[in-house]
Amino acid sequence: MKNSLDFDVIIIGSGVGGSTVADYLTNEHKNLKVAILESGPHRTKENFTSNEIASTALYYNSGAVLSKNLQIGIAAANTLGGGSAVYTGVSFRPPKSVLNAWRYDFGLNFLSDDYVSTSLDVIEADLSVHELPSDWDNQNNQLFQAGAERLGIPVKRLKINTKNCQQLGLCNFGCQSGAKQGALEVQIPRLLKRGVQLFCNTEVVLVAENIVNVTVKEAPQNTVKNNIDSGNYQFKAKKIIIAAGVLNTPVILLKSTKALGLKNKNIGRYIALHPVFNINGVFTENISNNTGFPKTVYSDHYSDSHGFFLETSFYSLGITAKNNCGYGELHQEVMKDYKKMMSILILAHDKVEFKNRICINKKGERVLDYTISDDSKIALIKALQVSAKLFFAAGCESVLIPGSCELPILKTDVGEIDALISENYLNLNKTPLSSAHPQGGSRMGIDESNSVCDIYGKVYGTKSIYVCDASLFPTSVKVNPYETIMLLAKWIAENMFKK
Ligand SMILES: Cc1cc2nc3c(=O)[nH]c(=O)nc-3n(C[C@H](O)[C@H](O)[C@H](O)COP(=O)(O)OP(=O)(O)OC[C@H]3O[C@@H](n4cnc5c(N)ncnc54)[C@H](O)[C@@H]3O)c2cc1C
Repeated sequence: MKNSLDFDVIIIGSGVGGSTVADYLTNEHKNLKVAILESGPHRTKENFTSNEIASTALYYNSGAVLSKNLQIGIAAANTLGGGSAVYTGVSFRPPKSVLNAWRYDFGLNFLSDDYVSTSLDVIEADLSVHELPSDWDNQNNQLFQAGAERLGIPVKRLKINTKNCQQLGLCNFGCQSGAKQGALEVQIPRLLKRGVQLFCNTEVVLVAENIVNVTVKEAPQNTVKNNIDSGNYQFKAKKIIIAAGVLNTPVILLKSTKALGLKNKNIGRYIALHPVFNINGVFTENISNNTGFPKTVYSDHYSDSHGFFLETSFYSLGITAKNNCGYGELHQEVMKDYKKMMSILILAHDKVEFKNRICINKKGERVLDYTISDDSKIALIKALQVSAKLFFAAGCESVLIPGSCELPILKTDVGEIDALISENYLNLNKTPLSSAHPQGGSRMGIDESNSVCDIYGKVYGTKSIYVCDASLFPTSVKVNPYETIMLLAKWIAENMFKK
């Protein structure tokens, strides 16, 4: 006999979407009985470490959930706070052109200019979103600006959501100082004070109307224990909100089709990933790159014309090694220059396609079925060419092109870059493309024939099941997505008990 627990709302997943919807719901409805079921452990800032290998435990599949064709790997967190525990905190409002398309093509009319700007003013104030002062730029960020200026590429400053940042540079390992204003620092403490019940180590496999059956597991060593014994439970609620992220929300829906009587062919479809290349240039001497805040500037100069952003970045040793060219001894040689490396993150805007999807195989395992489109390949090649020119303009001696290129490109090759970095360089099964911004799979839209959820986040064909995470995005948002997820979560919370 299972233990039974009753709530008004159950939220599956404590990441950006889950913690935000919980925050707005419990602020608006003081007596609401809310539970959050989170599959990851309850880690706090004391659990975070500067050890790269140990930090892979915060992620699904140690940081890379690979596509079936091995073209791309997704980094997604499996810990309390979800992506907000490991994100860098780069804060973008959704571009107007994207919101216009969401309004006109998908009927998301609530995203008026006024609603969006008023809501994001509130969200950004709550999270202390601000520009970092230029005297915080490490040399990697300074050199990016110098190179871009020499090439006439305009650069803008990024906004970040931190308070009293200690410039440890370890954002993606979890913020040890608690400066990053993600769910662990902002929403979760509030929710616990308001009496929201949090159940970690609790993975939801499928849902039925008003019911979630789960096994609550023991907390891993050194993480916070649950307030209830481990074992099998039946959770009941008037509303169930799935906020398990793009990798998992569609899987839960696909596994629940029988229980919910769903026949929607769009579940798991129209995935966008923002395919990312991280590319390194080798400067003449050691530079400060892996110290200080990792990224302060970016360029959207090629966004409309060629479909990509360039952001500064710097990564730890293992990730940098993965992104660099060559194998064996050549690769070891290349990595000897780690401390001299400048780094740029190329973020391509991919178009959504029905065929790109999260699905489940016969064994019930998740499969990421995603193919880099020809448009994305063209965007990535152009972005590699521009980045290489920028590195040389900044004073680098050589540039390391990720993927199939065996040798670094040297300063003497600077006139040949467009010819050297061509389609031959993009062997997609060797090139380590990655993604930290999966979107789509439970598309929100007014037309059930091409969507999964209505404009209030409710899954079409269900009475009590909602989605609230990045899987709602109808198309790629083109920028770092967390503010847009929070915007949709605010809207869903505001309307959940109105109709
Ligand atoms: C390294 C990294 C850096 C990033 N940097 C930025 C940045 O600077 N700016 C930006 O805007 N975005 C950034 N992002 C992206 C951002 O973190 C994500 O877009 C965002 O977290 C997605 O929110 P979500 O609610 O969709 O899912 P998530 O935040 O991933 O939350 C999903 C939660 O559900 C839990 N869960 C999953 N399955 C189940 C289940 N079956 N049962 C119960 N719980 C489950 C997961 O453990 C997780 O806690 C970054 C991401 C990564 C990985």
